[in-house]
Amino acid sequence: MRFGFFKKGNDRNDVEPKKIKKVVTITSNVIDGLISYSKMHHPYEGILILEGERKRTEILINNLVIPPFSVHGPFYSGFPINELPFDLKYVGTAHSHPSGSSQPSLEDLNHFYGLISIIICHPYDESDIHAYDSNGREVDLIRR
Ligand SMILES: [Zn+2]
Repeated sequence: MRFGFFKKGNDRNDVEPKKIKKVVTITSNVIDGLISYSKMHHPYEGILILEGERKRTEILINNLVIPPFSVHGPFYSGFPINELPFDLKYVGTAHSHPSGSSQPSLEDLNHFYGLISIIICHPYDESDIHAYDSNGREVDLIRR
């Protein structure tokens, strides 16, 4: 649904706050960490937890956490999400695609955790990093 000033009707009575488009920023440390972690696990998938801050108009990703009990395979990486403590600092996950595809798989979307899912595909350059929301829509990453 589109939200904006073009909607007809009596907007003035809307009690719902206007949806604010969030921007996703990522620090250079996190980018470098993602790249080296993915290269280290190649040809297997690697998965990491994204830690950061949720602000009103921004999701800031500023740290990477290695998940407990993670498993690695050529076509599968994951960890039992139940094992994760509920922590507001966890804003999502990142995993690598050794196949070179930047698209989230059905599996990825079914196991979405948090607000943001980052996929970094082979050959793991900075331009191979893509971020998606829970609907599988790509969102822009702003490097800080
Ligand atoms: Zn995937």
